[in-house]
Amino acid sequence: MEKGTVIVLLGGPGSGKGTHGRAVAEALGLDHVSTGDRFREEIAAGTDLGLRAQAAIKQGRFAPDDVAAELLTSILDDRPRGCGLVLDGYPRTRAQAEGLVGLLNRHGLTLRAVIHLAIEDDEIVARLSGRLTCRDCGETCHQTYQPPRQPGVCDLCGGQLYRRADDEPGTIRKRLAMFHETEGPLLDFFRAGPLWIEIDGAGPIHVVKARAIAAASSQLKQASATG
Ligand SMILES: [Zn+2]
Repeated sequence: MEKGTVIVLLGGPGSGKGTHGRAVAEALGLDHVSTGDRFREEIAAGTDLGLRAQAAIKQGRFAPDDVAAELLTSILDDRPRGCGLVLDGYPRTRAQAEGLVGLLNRHGLTLRAVIHLAIEDDEIVARLSGRLTCRDCGETCHQTYQPPRQPGVCDLCGGQLYRRADDEPGTIRKRLAMFHETEGPLLDFFRAGPLWIEIDGAGPIHVVKARAIAAASSQLKQASATG
């Protein structure tokens, strides 16, 4: 693996981007960096960055471009220079995509693959609307993919399971429509370039995971062969 390799993983809500990002990172010996996780930490800690991102994130929108770029810069500043990673949650917009290569290069990093997890909205709705949350402990499960041992009852604490308002099909479709509006120009930006790989994000987790790892490895091999 060449030093300073960065792989970007793109995918919408319910695409399993975090899970697959961690799997790709582990398989290739890279770190997994989730800007979404970092934003939640910054918000919880009440930092200046957290406060500036908070309003947007609470309304289900993305943090403003300048705040997101600042967060990524501070994450990279804190890491050993040239240490490769899988980037999850950045870029979210076309403007962020346009500035990404420069931002990475300033930290001794090179973007070598952009993997898009493509999934139909219907599949996402089926995934997300099946999610059940425990009223008592907050644990989640899935009525189809990870059903509780006893219907309606939390495996962990015996509390009552319910479907959160966020997970109602109509709400999910609205969220997806908003997401696609921003996502379209972002995907178009990378789709035209040589680093782009689209994989089928539908199907069981272990199958999609294997596809993502295979796609990333072959892209990196190709990149190092052509110099
Ligand atoms: Zn529970």
